[in-house]
Amino acid sequence: MPARDAAAELARRLTAAGHQALFAGGCVRDKLLGHEPEDYDIATSAVPSEVLGLFPGSNEVGAHFGVVIAKHGGHHIEIATFRTDGSYRDGRRPESVTFSTPQEDARRRDFTINGLFEVPDTGEIIDYVGGMADLKAGIIRAIGDAQARFTEDGLRLLRAVRFAARIGFTIEPATDAALRDCAHLLDRISPERIRDEFSKILTSPRRRAGVEHLVETDLIRHFMPEVLPMVGCEQPPEWHPEGDVFTHTMIMLGMLAPDAPIELCLAVLLHDIAKPPCRSIDPDGRIRFNGHDALGAQMAETILRRLRYPNHVIDDAVTMVSRHMQFMNVQKMRVAKLKRFMAEPTFDRELELHRVDCASSNGFTDNYEFLQAREAEFAAEPLIPPPLVTGKDLIKLGLQPGPRFREILEASVPLLVLTNEPTIRSACVRGCGFSRTSARSH
Ligand code: ATP
Ligand code: MG
Repeated sequence: MPARDAAAELARRLTAAGHQALFAGGCVRDKLLGHEPEDYDIATSAVPSEVLGLFPGSNEVGAHFGVVIAKHGGHHIEIATFRTDGSYRDGRRPESVTFSTPQEDARRRDFTINGLFEVPDTGEIIDYVGGMADLKAGIIRAIGDAQARFTEDGLRLLRAVRFAARIGFTIEPATDAALRDCAHLLDRISPERIRDEFSKILTSPRRRAGVEHLVETDLIRHFMPEVLPMVGCEQPPEWHPEGDVFTHTMIMLGMLAPDAPIELCLAVLLHDIAKPPCRSIDPDGRIRFNGHDALGAQMAETILRRLRYPNHVIDDAVTMVSRHMQFMNVQKMRVAKLKRFMAEPTFDRELELHRVDCASSNGFTDNYEFLQAREAEFAAEPLIPPPLVTGKDLIKLGLQPGPRFREILEASVPLLVLTNEPTIRSACVRGCGFSRTSARSH
């Protein structure tokens, strides 16, 4: 059953029992914008014990804040009692709530476009906060005094930027000015909540405008300050006619597909994060960024761990940052090396990073086209045949790990595998320039 039908049925049961029940907040906004809402929230005059009585088996987590989660038709629907929030001493959540009226409930919400109600059966909109006018004008405006509302809950700073980026609205001047004045309030917000909002900004189709706004308002200083030195970090104009490192990165973000995955968006944002600390100028005036890929991978890991991203996201993004310069050498790689390079699970996303890296700067497409052609060519065979002999086997044979390990693995593996005859084995090993260490072959 569609989410809307499931929510409407629950609302009908509440009204049949004599309570008021309205769709509230994001679902009303999204439907008016022509988007299918992801989830429906119901605001009601029924108190949690009455909601639980009508919908046995509902989850009462949050019931003391007036929130009950009901399951119906395969959906989880949040049913919240009309309420006024008490004081927010910690800048994160109210200390108490008082059950109240729809007017008061609209006024506790963050932005006018999020403060609308809808009568489920008729579709009538109930607007106590001027949300309809702002929705039509494309404006994000805090309900009441913006500074006071951000001081209550600092996460709203990022929510404002997120809604602007998601739906392409403009933040009203007083609300926008308050974003700058209140940026420090993010210091009180948990990394997990910041991560979730930031990820929604970064994965939205207007991610470039969203990140630029986080920089303009200085919000980013409070959770990812490493981005700021990219602004104004000059690059060699012959390679980067588009401008400084930040401009280059923003153009790349804007070139990604609307539904680009989070680890790719993070890798693009962070691929040149170490250019500012690695920047040096030769006596002839040439600008260099030696080692920015390796240091960038370290910095990306530090940043993403701090924001509590899951390990698989961190691993993928860090791999992409650390390898992004190797794409410049792919045409010179030997086939075995190229196949190993392309066998990395992140390769397709890295190729996309490389595409936008070039498209936003020098416009070269040769490495990209070369790799696409090789991908098609190698498609018929597995990229890496399962190894017959591994480094571990060589160590067991008594060899000391070193730079020539790879060579022996590539060159001598067939012989080592084919024979158990000790003289052939050691001749083969000697042929690769290895000397025996203490252990004996077996
Ligand atoms: P989305 O679901 O797309 O993330 P949303 O606006 O629906 O956006 P939810 O977290 O689902 O956000 O919250 C539903 C409604 O609850 C919001 O529309 C808003 O009215 C209110 N709300 C949510 N978070 C806050 C907050 N931090 N401060 C004030 N009101 C909030
Ligand atoms: Mg929602």
